[in-house]
Amino acid sequence: MTFKSEVDVAIVGAGAAGLAAAHDLGAAGLDVLLVEARDRIGGRAWTLSEGQPCPLDLGCGWLHSADVNPWVKIAEELGFHVDKSLPPWARRSREMGFAPGEYDDFFRASESFWDRLEDAKDAEHDRPASDFLEQGSRWIPLIESISSYYNGAALDLVSTKDLGRYTDTGVNWRVVEGYGTLVARYGADLPVAYNAPASAIDHHGSRVKIETSRGTISARAAVITVPTGVLASGAIAFRPALDDKLQAAAHLPLGLADKMFFRLQRPEDFPNGAHLFGAIDELTASYDVRPHGCPIIECYFGGSLAADLEKGAAGAFESYAREQLTRQLGGDVVANISAIASTRWQADPFARGSYSHALPGHADDRSVLAAPVGDRLFFAGEACSPEFFSTAHGAYLSGIDAARQVRAALEVRATA
Ligand SMILES: Cc1cc2nc3c(=O)[nH]c(=O)nc-3n(C[C@H](O)[C@H](O)[C@H](O)COP(=O)(O)OP(=O)(O)OC[C@H]3O[C@@H](n4cnc5c(N)ncnc54)[C@H](O)[C@@H]3O)c2cc1C
Repeated sequence: MTFKSEVDVAIVGAGAAGLAAAHDLGAAGLDVLLVEARDRIGGRAWTLSEGQPCPLDLGCGWLHSADVNPWVKIAEELGFHVDKSLPPWARRSREMGFAPGEYDDFFRASESFWDRLEDAKDAEHDRPASDFLEQGSRWIPLIESISSYYNGAALDLVSTKDLGRYTDTGVNWRVVEGYGTLVARYGADLPVAYNAPASAIDHHGSRVKIETSRGTISARAAVITVPTGVLASGAIAFRPALDDKLQAAAHLPLGLADKMFFRLQRPEDFPNGAHLFGAIDELTASYDVRPHGCPIIECYFGGSLAADLEKGAAGAFESYAREQLTRQLGGDVVANISAIASTRWQADPFARGSYSHALPGHADDRSVLAAPVGDRLFFAGEACSPEFFSTAHGAYLSGIDAARQVRAALEVRATA
């Protein structure tokens, strides 16, 4: 073993939540170890840079709620560049592919759907968000497509109460070097046991024992930050069993979003910074063309569309996107693009999806998931965040919260 087998705090999972907890606890003078299944840190924050025309964010890409997002300050402190220009979906180009007047019609239908959700969010009885669609509206497929990007799931699987608790300040920025690069740099100096998937966590004695494929780690306390899909699958056995945690995780499943990227041989043929839907009358992917002037198209697939394409033949994402882009931009232009990268987050055994949503009736399961077990087991990760769930900043803040609970439990004062 090249890592310590006895530490103060073991943190299972080295994504945004685990790294934040490790930073905080390390600064408080505790001996910490991140226990990570992969050969890299960052989890669902992951940028592919080498050999690419620009950094490609395969997971999180947007600093959502950027004016209150702690990653912005970290980016600035670490010398990263933050692109504060308007996101493509907030510009005029969003009208591409709509006949005159159609976009305004869609926009009104979408706004009144969100208004109905807002009015219903505090009702005693939680309902599926799909209950608030206007029956017979021609815009249902496009509103569902947007849910597939936002929630990774269809609206009948989404809790209205939970959606209502999500806080979005409407400010969206990007890290030019990649959000994943930033998260990895933030965690670069932390102690990590790589390639060490945890398979069991024994918390019945005075120390927590974490069994991994590289040996057992013993700690005074542990912070568990693995995605809900991993927890609910039973991939980690808890001794004694934690059925309420596993049930809460199952009620907060990860929706699915996948990305694929094309390189543009002739960028000048494509509108700079445009955002377009592949279709307006069916569940569809969306496309960011030349984001920050980079010669690529970033394609975004959500929900059942992404799930079907993941299960399809190799190249299924590419053929689907080529067909949609050809309809929107013309075959001559699309002939000069080549596929360079794509994701399969559902098939990834250490993610099992993209970001969490609450099933109808289960908004309060986020606090069940986040609650400590005794004074030794603590939980963090985006799904534990009451208001910023599904995001990298929600993950970070949940890690800081868990670290505060650990410090209180171990009666250690923060030095920072
Ligand atoms: C396609 C896509 C687009 C996204 N877009 C955005 C966006 O624009 N903005 C935004 O804020 N968020 C976005 N997100 C969500 C964001 O990436 C996540 O919410 C955030 O990164 C989650 O951090 P986390 O620490 O909770 O979990 P993770 O990053 O998943 O970290 C958990 C870690 O646990 C590890 N692990 C799993 N099983 C085990 C095990 N058995 N033993 C040990 N380790 C294990 C994993 O390998 C992983 O490193 C996106 C995600 C995806 C997939």
